Amino acid sequence: MSRIAFVNGQYVPHKDAAVHVEDRGYQFADGVYEVCEVWKSAIIDMPRHMDRLDRSLRELRIDWPLHRKALEFVMAETVRRNRVSDGIVYVQVTRGVARRDHFFPSGDVAPSIVVTARSANPKVADKQAETGIAVVTYPENRWPRVDIKTVALLPNVLAKQNAKEQGGKEAWYVDQDGNVTEGGSTNVWIVTKEGTLVTRPAESGILKGITRAVVLDLVERHGIAFEERPFSLEEAKQAREAFVTAASTLVMPVVKIDGSPVGNGHPGSVATALRDQFHTATDLHRL
Ligand code: PLP
Repeated sequence: MSRIAFVNGQYVPHKDAAVHVEDRGYQFADGVYEVCEVWKSAIIDMPRHMDRLDRSLRELRIDWPLHRKALEFVMAETVRRNRVSDGIVYVQVTRGVARRDHFFPSGDVAPSIVVTARSANPKVADKQAETGIAVVTYPENRWPRVDIKTVALLPNVLAKQNAKEQGGKEAWYVDQDGNVTEGGSTNVWIVTKEGTLVTRPAESGILKGITRAVVLDLVERHGIAFEERPFSLEEAKQAREAFVTAASTLVMPVVKIDGSPVGNGHPGSVATALRDQFHTATDLHRL
C-alpha cells in the first residue's frame, strides 16, 4: 500500500509530497512541529500535543494553518489513510511561502502545513527496552529557546550523529555547569543511589516533553520518590538507573553513558515499571 501525506489542504501520494523551494521552513527553519505516538489505532495525548503546538506557534507568531479541530481531523485521517495502527503521526507548520527575506512576509501569506504518518513495530522498541540503550554526551550548543519545538534541529542532528558514530543511540547534552540538560530528541531522567527519581525542571534549557508530563502523572499516582532539579553528568554516572522519554520511544532505559555502565548495566526497575504502566496514564484519541 502506498503512503499518503497531507500537504497544504490535499492528500497526496507520499512520493509526490513536496513544498515550494521558498517555503520558509526550507529556507530559514522558520517552523514548528509535533510528533504524536499512534498506539492501538489511537493518537496518544492529542490535547497536550495541540496545546504545545499552540504555544510554539504563538511564541513564533505563526498563525494556526487550520482550526485546531480540523487539524485533529486531518491527523486522524492521515493515520487512517496510511493504515497505521502503531507508529507516529508528524505535523509541521511553517510561516509559509514567500520571496526569500528574513523579515516576516506580509499578512496574506498562509502558513504551510504538512502531516505524515508512519508505522513502527512496537515489538522492536520493546526489545530495545529489554536491553536498554547507550548514550554519548555532547556539549550544549543550542539556542536558549529550546522550549519551542522548532524544526531548527541541526545541533540535534550533529549531536545524535556523533552518538551514533560512537555506538550510542542517543546524545545527552551537558551544559557549561556540567549538568545534563536533555537528549538530542528526548528528556532525561535518573534514579539516584538513594532511589529518588530526578528530572530537570522544564522552566529553561529543555523542551517540555509530553511523555515527560505523562511520566510525572504516573510518579504522582504511584507516590514514587521524586525531585525536579538539575543533575550533573557525574551524578548520572553514579546513578542506580537512567532513562530517556519521548513520544517516539516512550520510556527507554539507558544502560551506558560515554561507555561507563549505569548501575548494574541493565535496565532498572523504575524505568521498566514506568514503561509497562505508560499507557494507563495517556489520553487516547480514537480514529
Ligand atoms: N527533547 C527534545 C529535544 C525532543 O526533540 C523531544 C521529542 O522530540 C523531547 C524532548 C521529548 O518530547 P515528547 O515527549 O513530547 O516527544
